[in-house]
Amino acid sequence: MNWQSILQAVAADVAPVVGGGRVANYIPALARVPMQQFGIALATVDGEQAAAGDSHTPFSIQSVSKVLGLTLGLQALGPALWDRIGREPSGNPFNSLVQLEREEGKPRNPFINAGALCVADRLLSAHEDPTKAFNDLGCSLLGEVLAFDAEVERSERTSGFRNAALANFIKSFGQIDNDIDAVLGLYYRQCSIVSHCAGLARAFGYLANGGVQPETGQRIVSREQARRINSLMLTCGTYDAAGEFAFKVGLPCKSGVGGAIVAVVPGRMVLCAWSPGLDETGNSVAARLAMELFVSRTGLSVF
Ligand code: GLN
Repeated sequence: MNWQSILQAVAADVAPVVGGGRVANYIPALARVPMQQFGIALATVDGEQAAAGDSHTPFSIQSVSKVLGLTLGLQALGPALWDRIGREPSGNPFNSLVQLEREEGKPRNPFINAGALCVADRLLSAHEDPTKAFNDLGCSLLGEVLAFDAEVERSERTSGFRNAALANFIKSFGQIDNDIDAVLGLYYRQCSIVSHCAGLARAFGYLANGGVQPETGQRIVSREQARRINSLMLTCGTYDAAGEFAFKVGLPCKSGVGGAIVAVVPGRMVLCAWSPGLDETGNSVAARLAMELFVSRTGLSVF
């Protein structure tokens, strides 16, 4: 297939909705990002790459970093990671507190904020310098050090009242070991990682390739762990829109409130689309439509 012309056609088709939706205004630094931007890129496991639109414009990856956190968590702890984190879709917004009360501080899955905070806690216990662990993983995946946006990190720290509530609430059930500020600090740092569509499409190649990074041949996670990360992306990666994503896209996806959506086509490629305007579930309006259009043009879906 001619990936380049497919991505260009998708970019042209989504143009009317680019600029629609709302930026994540609860994080002031993200609220300032211009909305009229759209990028898309893919990288195949065979080394082909294609890109269209603002495919190299840097953005805050936000919750897409939860996939990196989960990868590090599984590397460090293996199945013991699941002692404190579930694997069920939440059916609730990504920053919701309600289930935690009934479920005694055990988050439904690692891709909602509560779950990612628990993963961050486990990483703080497992690594002397967890930021370095993220950086080392970034180097293995992209061959370069990760960039962090200090302003976004600061902005989240000063406006992250819900995340602070979540972390404190979980700790009240004894499900967080480390100091709350350290847990929140690591979480905000990972959310502030900066990348672009072309970078993320390359970075997550291991998920399309049985756990092995296609460019380097380095094993990042086991085949089974890669399969499980993909399963969780499909069922939980886009929060309470995950059912709708499975229905319309049918690929493991992970979104972030910076406007990125990463999608894995197992055995084939990783695709990343980005546009800052979000719908009410916190998923990018244009990137979401781009995923649907890509799948309907190519027939690439796990179903
Ligand atoms: N940093 C964001 C938050 O904690 C991440 C959420 C997201 O991307 N869905 O609210």
